[in-house]
Order: sequence, then structure tokens, then C-alpha cells
Amino acid sequence: MYSVVVVEDETLTRRAIALSLREAGFTVHEASDALACRALLRQTRPDMIVLDLGLPGIDGMDFARELRVRSDFGLIIVTRQSAPEARIASLDLGADDYLIKPIHYGELAARIRSVMRRLGRDRSRRRKVGQWTVDLEARTVSNGRLDASLTRGEFDILARLIQADTKIVTRQELLSAISRSPQESDMRSVDALVSRLRRKLGETTGGNLIATAPGFGYRLAATPETEEP
Ligand code: CA
Repeated sequence: MYSVVVVEDETLTRRAIALSLREAGFTVHEASDALACRALLRQTRPDMIVLDLGLPGIDGMDFARELRVRSDFGLIIVTRQSAPEARIASLDLGADDYLIKPIHYGELAARIRSVMRRLGRDRSRRRKVGQWTVDLEARTVSNGRLDASLTRGEFDILARLIQADTKIVTRQELLSAISRSPQESDMRSVDALVSRLRRKLGETTGGNLIATAPGFGYRLAATPETEEP
């Protein structure tokens, strides 16, 4: 869940933006001007600031520049100006994205998630693998109806395969993921864990989730999709 500061002096607009973002699952702080935004930044560390350029008492571009001195959050600029110069200026000063009013709230939420992904702040630790949702933090695997109760070793292997996307992970690498002191003789335990993992994920009835790379190791047969927070 990302935390977003919405800086906008028009109360109704700000509330509407905040409401839509909260409904989309974001934590939202509201600031009606630059002063309120500065005060908020002393208390919280947001992932994103959505900044309306038309603020009272300060040039929006100047304030954007001031914010951009810090790089620990994303910055999306919102303005009424539709001139390409305004867009170029915003991006030049380091904004991560730019929206023109009236903004579409669904689009704003999508742009925020997209910037977060680009900045590598993708907080979602949930991956969709076939019919399964794998929560890498909670270490759960569920298909919405039932949980695949995996052992520690089985989960570690699945997590390592997910980490590699669809690239091959050698048996040696998988062994390192499950044990502290990998030994050649333990290679068969990797194979045993993978076959148990396949069985628990229903590979006998469903499609192949884990492909064998003969002589090398294993890989996921399909790209694990990130689930939006
Ligand atoms: Ca305004």
C-alpha cells in the first residue's frame, strides 16, 4: 500500500482525488498548500506526491523544484495548462509524470502505480503464478479456494523460481536457497522438493507451472505476474 500526499488548494477537487485514491487502496494525506505539504513531509515519508501547480502564494514550478531536491518519493504534477511547454518543463525539472486537469481518477491511480514500479518501489510482494497467488512476505500460496500448504523448503524453491522470472535456476542455486551448506549429495533433495511442489500445485491436473531444464535445473513456465497493491 503506497502513501500519497495530495497537494491541491481547491478543497472539493482535493477531497475527490483523495477519496478516489483511498478507494483504490492508497493511504492519502491531504495538503492545501506548500506550507501544509512541508509540514506533512516533516512527519511522514510518502511514496508519492501529487502536486497541483496552481497553488496560492507560491510558483508551482518553484515548489516542484524544491520537492525534487529530495528523491525519496515519486512526483506527479497536475496542472490546467495543456501547453506542451508546461509538460516539457515539468518533466525537465524531474517530475516522474504529468497530468492535465480535469484528471481521470482511475488514470491517476494507474500512473502512480506505474511510477512506483519504474522507481523500483513496487511494494506488492504478491505474485500470480498460474492459478496461484504467492505472497512472498506472508509465505502463503492460495488459489482463492484453498491454500497449498507448502513446507519451508518447497516454498523457498518456489520463491527462488519466481525471483528468476522464467529464467533457468540451476539445481545448485536451488540447493543454496534451501540449505546453508550445499552438498552434491543433496541434489536429489532438490528434485524431490520440486516434484512435491508440482504435486501440491496440482500439476497433474493443471498446466505445467515448473518446467525442467534437463541437465541444468528448473524454471517457471510462465511469467509470474505482480499483483497490484
Ligand atoms: Ca489549484
